[in-house]
Order: sequence, then structure tokens, then C-alpha cells
Amino acid sequence: MSRPKILLTRRWPKAVEKHLLERYDVTFNETDQPLERSEIRAAMTKFDAVCPTVSDRVGADVLDVKNRRAKVLGNYGVGFSHIDIDTCKKLGIVVTNTPDVLTECTADIALTLMLMIARRAGEGERQVRSRSWTGWRPTHMLGTKVSGKTLGLIGFGRIGQATAARAHHGFGMKILYYSRRPASPEVEAATGGKYCESLDDLIVESDFISLHCPGGAETRHLINAQRIDRMKPSAFLINTARGEVVDEEALIDALKHNRIAGAGLDVYEREPDVPNDMIALNNVVLLPHLGSATTETRVEMGMRVARNLDAFFDGQEPPDRVV
Ligand code: NAP
Repeated sequence: MSRPKILLTRRWPKAVEKHLLERYDVTFNETDQPLERSEIRAAMTKFDAVCPTVSDRVGADVLDVKNRRAKVLGNYGVGFSHIDIDTCKKLGIVVTNTPDVLTECTADIALTLMLMIARRAGEGERQVRSRSWTGWRPTHMLGTKVSGKTLGLIGFGRIGQATAARAHHGFGMKILYYSRRPASPEVEAATGGKYCESLDDLIVESDFISLHCPGGAETRHLINAQRIDRMKPSAFLINTARGEVVDEEALIDALKHNRIAGAGLDVYEREPDVPNDMIALNNVVLLPHLGSATTETRVEMGMRVARNLDAFFDGQEPPDRVV
């Protein structure tokens, strides 16, 4: 049997690309620039598997093509809100993702953002680099203490729980969480998490709010102007989930007028575009979607895609099938 033809929409770590070449006829995107929709659409007719990632928009217009050859999308990443899942279901396209392997590193980035914004680390770094630091003094660049504060998590799956465990055991934080159903007593005991039935109660009570729910239509602008207004004026918003979960304009307005203390963001509504009004603010820490960006994790993510493709092409159930 001929080797299945697969397309990777972006460059992947070398070790994974090499591994995939052992079994597949792999096409790489040599330029590593995001593919046009028309290119992904054409790929659906030429490849047995297409492997997209968060920088691709895989909508119905791309999926519903005449003479489609691709039967599986091996997504490189755990989040899949950039893929039109309903259309995949309708057309019988299998979709897989890469859970677990990025949990720890993404939780680490959530903690990084919490510490950076509360302790003014970005501002401080800019001050040193611009040579405007004049030395230690008792009132210099005072931030907010993190230890012992209340952390409210929205979404309490793998990454939400890993963030809770770090914050609770490492920083003695009180943990509240909101999701559509409570976690098990074992998970609550391991993370210190206390279920909050009402999202609005969690928002009112938290000193830090960290987002860990999926993106997509259901969570779009879950954090809107009204909810931001309910936050304590001393509270911080952390987003490592998806940009679309936060109404970015409303957040910029609240930060501009100091209605909340600050925000730490890894993801944006229109990546890689970050509004000038956001860039101009000092009370926000901005990272370029680094959640899973460690060598170890990015290799494991690729190997996880490979494992799913192997199962699919062996006629077995892919272990991380989401559709
Ligand atoms: P997960 O284990 O599936 O957890 C998602 C959690 O969100 C679950 O607790 C789920 O619980 C909850 N949820 C779902 N719909 C919700 C809603 N409408 N309102 C409130 N909670 C809701 O996923 P994960 O592995 O932790 O990943 C979470 C997200 O992080 C991904 O979807 C991805 O977008 C993002 N991510 C970002 C990066 C990065 O680089 N910044 C890296 C990895 C992942 P219920 O179903 O019980 O509500």
C-alpha cells in the first residue's frame, strides 16, 4: 500500500518531522507562513491527512470541497476552536488533538503571567533596559502580593487544575473554580479547588481570574464589559485560553481607566494583531502565545499527532479523537 500523504501546515520540531517521514509521504510548509484558506482548501483534495494548528482557520468553506481526499485532521494543539467541528461531524471527517502533554507548560505560563503582572516584572524590565532605573528605594515600583490571595479559575479541566495545584500548594492561594459541572472530590482535594456555581460570584470574589475554558461560540466574550465591571478594582485577569473568550475592547477600556488592576495575556482576539491601545498600556503583560512553547512539549505534541495518525491509518480508533 502506498504511503499516506500528509500535510503539516507549519514547520514542526525537527525530531517529529523526521519521525513522520519514516511512515508518511509528508509535505512541509517550507516558508512556515500561515497558509491561505484557498491553499488549505486545495490540500483537502490532495492529502489523506491535513495537520493544522491554531494559526489556521479551518471553516466549512475549507472543509466542504468537491472530491475531498482528506479523512482526518491531526490538529497540533489541544484547543480546536479554529476548526469547524459541526462541519467535520456532518462530513465524517475525523479530528484529533494533543491533550495532556501541554498541560504543565501552559499552567506554568498562567503562573508566569500572574507573577509578572502582580509584581510589575514587565514594567521593571523595561525600566532597567531603558537605563531609567535610579536604584532601590522603599517606594519603588510597588506591586501586589500574590501569596495567600484568591484565584478564580474559569474552566477546570487539565490546565485549570494544574494551575490551581501550583497556586494552592506553591503560593498558598485560595482556589475557586467555575465550570459547567463540579470536579470530583479527589480533584478538589488535590488542588484546593472549591466549586462556584455562579460565574458572577467567582468574578466578584477573586483577586486573580484565570481563564482555562475552550474557545468557540459558547465562550465567546464570556468575559465582557459587564463582567469586567464586577471584578474587584484590585483584581487581575489572566488569559491563556483563547483570545475570543475576552471582549478585548472592553478589557482595554477597563485597563485604560484603571477599573481593574491589570491583565496578563498570552492569547488575543485577532492574533498576531495586538491593538495599539493595548500595547500602549503599562498595566498589562503581553506574551506571544507561549503556553506550550517549550522544546519538550512541542516535540511531545507532534508525537501525539503521529500516534493519532498511526492509529487512524491502521484502522484503529485514534486515542485523542474529538470528532
Ligand atoms: P480541558 O481539559 O478540556 O478543560 C476545559 C475546561 O473548560 C473543562 O473544565 C470544561 O468543563 C470547561 N468548560 C467547557 N465549556 C465551558 C464553558 N462554556 N464555561 C465554563 N467552563 C467550560 O482542556 P485543557 O487541556 O485544560 O485546555 C483548555 C484550553 O486551553 C484549550 O481549549 C485551549 O484553547 C487553551 N490552551 C492554550 C494554550 C496556550 O498556548 N496559551 C495551550 C494549551 C491550551 P465542563 O465541560 O464541565 O464545563
